[in-house]
Amino acid sequence: MFETLTKAPADKILALMGEFAADPRKEKIDLGVGVYKDEAGVTAIMTSVTKAEQRILANAKTKTYVGISGNKGFNAAVRELVLADTVDAKRVRLLQAPGGTGALAVLMELLYRAKPDATLWLSNPTWPNHAPMAKHAGFKLDSYPYFDAKTRAVDFPAMLAALDKLGPNDIVLLHGCCHNPTGANLTPAQWDQVAASLARTGAFPLIDLAYLGFGDGLEPDAYGTRAVVKAVPESVIAFSGSKNFGLYRERIGAAIVIARDEAQADVANSQLMNIARVTYSQPPDHGAEIIRTILEDKDLRAEWEAELATMRNRMIRLREKLSEAIKAKSNAADFDFIAEHRGMFSLLGLPGEAVEKLKTDGGVYMIGDSRINVAGIPEDRVGDLASAILGTMK
Ligand code: PMP
Repeated sequence: MFETLTKAPADKILALMGEFAADPRKEKIDLGVGVYKDEAGVTAIMTSVTKAEQRILANAKTKTYVGISGNKGFNAAVRELVLADTVDAKRVRLLQAPGGTGALAVLMELLYRAKPDATLWLSNPTWPNHAPMAKHAGFKLDSYPYFDAKTRAVDFPAMLAALDKLGPNDIVLLHGCCHNPTGANLTPAQWDQVAASLARTGAFPLIDLAYLGFGDGLEPDAYGTRAVVKAVPESVIAFSGSKNFGLYRERIGAAIVIARDEAQADVANSQLMNIARVTYSQPPDHGAEIIRTILEDKDLRAEWEAELATMRNRMIRLREKLSEAIKAKSNAADFDFIAEHRGMFSLLGLPGEAVEKLKTDGGVYMIGDSRINVAGIPEDRVGDLASAILGTMK
């Protein structure tokens, strides 16, 4: 059977994790894989999550199936968290999905069923799984300009000019907030322009919302998604609960469809349910029940929001410290952009050799494109890290 196959490409990020684990140096620093880490370097379970789990365990009576759309309370709570009252709920349908990746997968298949000839546009650069997933769904791919390697900010005029040329046969994948891998994001005014462009051209937005609450806060981070959804008749969102609830391995996310009207929403939803039915049938419940429990309870929700704010503020503080440390050591190097970026990542814009040198000489691990996970920066060694980064530029 398998003689007809060759090995599939290895996941570069997972391979780097293995290399880091095998590195015997005590002073090594892991800025690679995209999981949040606290000051002890641990991806801890949030206290609000543990409390929700205790309640669930104490009250659960059954493990029977939850249904193809998943946990109804979770779906309603996520709709409110992401969209608030942006659109009439009658036009919105949610399907609980196995992680943000699962949500993206079912949505891409839904869009492919609807428009197999469409071109799916990705930001340049984007999360390395987007292109393989879109290809797997069957789409033709293209990319729109996003990151300006010189300023390390969004090249907004170039992005907008590219979007303005699109039409109804195009699907645009947008990062709702906290762009991965660059950390460079649109301002609210720029989001308004993107939303107006999509409304004008008829290009269809597919919004990947994997880091809600990791940037500037739950409300500011939802701004772009809501601006787009409000401006256009139809859109879809892939929500992930992996990062903001720290539920990575529970595989919890949601596919959100906003349709033109109630009847179209029902059609799209029936197709989504059909896609789920023929792939994994029904989603796992535990992560969904945790999120439902937290979001439906005033006190637990406040506790979760406070924990999320602590994580977010820590990442912002580490950004400021690293850019200040680099500035203190070198007037020539401009790394202020690290403090401007938001979310878990920044793309440093270092060449491949520098990334390699940081790893071999300094034990500093980052993704090959020079993406760093700011949550991995050890707060007491920011100076060492700044020196190591500057050392590659000599
Ligand atoms: N989209 C982006 C941009 C991401 O960075 C990630 C996680 N790395 C995901 C989607 C999916 O996350 P998960 O499937 O773990 O929820």
